[in-house]
Parts: sequence; C-alpha cells; structure tokens
Amino acid sequence: MKQGIHPNYNSDGIVCTTCGTRWMIGSTRTGLRVEICANCHPFYTGEQRIVDTAGQVDRFMKRLSASQNRQAAIEKQRGTKSAPEPKKSLLKELYGDDA
Ligand SMILES: [Zn+2]
Repeated sequence: MKQGIHPNYNSDGIVCTTCGTRWMIGSTRTGLRVEICANCHPFYTGEQRIVDTAGQVDRFMKRLSASQNRQAAIEKQRGTKSAPEPKKSLLKELYGDDA
C-alpha cells in the first residue's frame, strides 16, 4: 500500500436518528446519520405508523385544516346549508386513536 495517499478509514458506524441503533459500517467519513433504518422502518417492523422526522405530516395537516376552514367559510358566505364540517383529524380517522 502506497503511503500518504489513502484517506482514514473509520469504523464508527452509522447512527439512526429515529431509533438510535448504531449500524457498524466502515467509511472514510465520520458522523454519518440516517433518518430511518431496517430496525424502525414500518415495512420491517410490520407496525402501521407514520414516520415523520421532518414534520411533513404536521405541515400537511396545517394546510389541510386551513383549506377546509377556507372552504367552510366560502360555503357559509354562499349560504349553503349542506356545507361539510371541517374534519378534526384525518390521521385519527385513518388510523384510529393510536396514530
Ligand atoms: Zn432506525
């Protein structure tokens, strides 16, 4: 092996930020992190849940709620009696109370 041309090889591993599992994988980089791994991904656990590390579900629910409120206001302005009530939680409707 020629000296002084190869990067340092670290065997620190990769850490999953969701479940905290450390996967022992070697790399030339340090501090590697992943958001989801085979230990906590719903496909492998068989558990039906939403993994939301970036807050995308919250952002979607805010937009959905705002849209429904806006639609209800428009229907109220028009005087339509059959305007649907804004839904409280789409997640609860889809997954029950344990969502
Ligand atoms: Zn994980």
